[in-house]
Amino acid sequence: MAEAIKIDELDIEFKDEVLGKVPAANFDLCLTCGTCTGGCAASELMDMDPRKLIRMLNLGMDDVILKSNWKWVCSMCQRCVAACPMKINIPALVFNLRAAIPREKRPKGILGSCDQHIRTGSAMGAKKEDFEFTVLDVAEEIRESHPGFEDLEVSVDREGAVMVLNQNSREPVTEPEEMGPLWKILHSVGADWTYPSVMWAGENYCMFMADNEGWKYIIEEFAYHIDNNLKSPMVVNTE
Ligand code: SF4
Ligand code: SF4
Repeated sequence: MAEAIKIDELDIEFKDEVLGKVPAANFDLCLTCGTCTGGCAASELMDMDPRKLIRMLNLGMDDVILKSNWKWVCSMCQRCVAACPMKINIPALVFNLRAAIPREKRPKGILGSCDQHIRTGSAMGAKKEDFEFTVLDVAEEIRESHPGFEDLEVSVDREGAVMVLNQNSREPVTEPEEMGPLWKILHSVGADWTYPSVMWAGENYCMFMADNEGWKYIIEEFAYHIDNNLKSPMVVNTE
């Protein structure tokens, strides 16, 4: 059971700051109904939940919500927004709470994954040459040993494919055989697809960490490669 909110010093500056960036966040419309909290996987963790967070924000408890580490356990899934009768944008608040922390003080695991992605193209640090080698190697193994998939087509950087698919980098690095089932589905429905070699990883810890510059850089590199080199009309983000 969560503890009652205790109001000490009130300061509503942070709420105004977030509303300046996300005017449609609608925090004042909260009915305190708790529907958001009922479906939130992060509820009750660290003595916090989305309803309580909005209540604290509206009461001006800036210090408490800025200090709480709950912002790092929210998965940004948006389930609360879908469930909220007033469409209050709680993930936008969480994003701004994260962005308010100096970059070097954000959680090391997320920070390291963001930096790896910027440097190498994937949060796991796998370079594009290694990614391509693994993908083609696993595809060859499937063609040789899985009846019915002798003509399975898997490619990296095939120009003109209808669809470009990205890939969570955990699979090629730690469980490469896990990529096979999706390839088989795409093969079975006759999909015309390819992987990109530039920023090929689907995850984006820079977005999760509220690093706007890193997030923007990754997406711009990815989009530039698809538009100008692969010339594909469609992207499917698996994350
Ligand atoms: S569902 Fe919406 S209105 Fe209800 S408590 Fe949560 S944020 Fe407030
Ligand atoms: S976005 Fe965050 S607060 Fe909203 S339901 Fe998901 S985990 Fe909970």
